[in-house]
Amino acid sequence: MKPAAFDYVVADSIDAAVTALAAAGGEAKIIAGGQSLVPMLNFRLLRPAILVDINRIPGLAFIEETTDAINVGALARHHRLETSPVIAERLSVLAEAMRHVAHLAIRNRGTIGGSLSHGDPAAELPMLALLLDADLDIASPRGRRTVAAKDFFLGALTVDLAADEMLTRIVFPKLRPSTGWGFAEVARRSGDFALAAVAATLTVAEGVIKEARIAMTGVDETAKRAGEAEAMLAGQVLTPGLIDDAIAAVRAGVTPATDLHASSDYRRHLVGVLAGRALAAAWARARGEDP
Ligand SMILES: Cc1cc2nc3c(=O)[nH]c(=O)nc-3n(C[C@H](O)[C@H](O)[C@H](O)COP(=O)(O)OP(=O)(O)OC[C@H]3O[C@@H](n4cnc5c(N)ncnc54)[C@H](O)[C@@H]3O)c2cc1C
Repeated sequence: MKPAAFDYVVADSIDAAVTALAAAGGEAKIIAGGQSLVPMLNFRLLRPAILVDINRIPGLAFIEETTDAINVGALARHHRLETSPVIAERLSVLAEAMRHVAHLAIRNRGTIGGSLSHGDPAAELPMLALLLDADLDIASPRGRRTVAAKDFFLGALTVDLAADEMLTRIVFPKLRPSTGWGFAEVARRSGDFALAAVAATLTVAEGVIKEARIAMTGVDETAKRAGEAEAMLAGQVLTPGLIDDAIAAVRAGVTPATDLHASSDYRRHLVGVLAGRALAAAWARARGEDP
């Protein structure tokens, strides 16, 4: 199908974009990479009166390192995250996750701001934003605000963004020293959305886990953290028995849907297996071993 007719506005600044959104009174949508929006327009799941194109706003595709964080502009494309030396060195788990996002052609266009704002329940970037405790900077004609990733994803395709708001910057705090990471995903075919995926970090000092983080996608209405499993790992040495306990807690904490691709039971089983693999890899890396 073809999309319903719409007007098209090219914004040349953040202020121009949010002014155009506000003027449309809820009838406008931002277009960034268009990789999720255009299919929804074509299927007429969305019929915005106006598209506000943010692609020509200068200076919004940055990846910059500060003392404490890696800051990423909303227009940074998936492929830039995948290939950025800064991301590879400082946030290797993010670089690894990006290789699992769709196909190269889609990664060349899709943006981090678009993926987070879209909030697909099986997308990788919301999971990584949760794992890395990212902060999201948001602009509107009313000013600027910052939302923690843990408060941003409200439900399937639903995020904490008003109709006149635009995500502008994502701040990823740097990981602490002696932090290892693991990532594991299963999709039916390369480039498909995940049936389930898990990303984990373990910060290890004096032989025990100081902080555990586990984030999952594909197994609930939104990506989420596995809080109970994280709590049981803190202060412990990672043994096979503890991995089994963490896997059980991960499985108990999700409510996967059944769809054409997999049953709820299969996804619940799978997310546990993936959590076990991600934790084992994180533990090895934190101790300087090859996972
Ligand atoms: C065949 C296919 C396979 C895919 N597989 C995967 C996959 O495996 N994993 C995965 O994570 N994704 C996958 N995707 C989605 C892809 O990653 C998209 O690029 C991404 O989800 C949306 O980014 P975008 O820049 O294209 O956003 P757009 O499509 O332009 O916009 C998406 C939504 O976000 C809004 N938006 C965009 N930017 C902003 C902003 N800065 N502020 C506020 N709102 C904004 C738009 O208004 C729209 O509602 C796939 C897509 C396709 C077509």
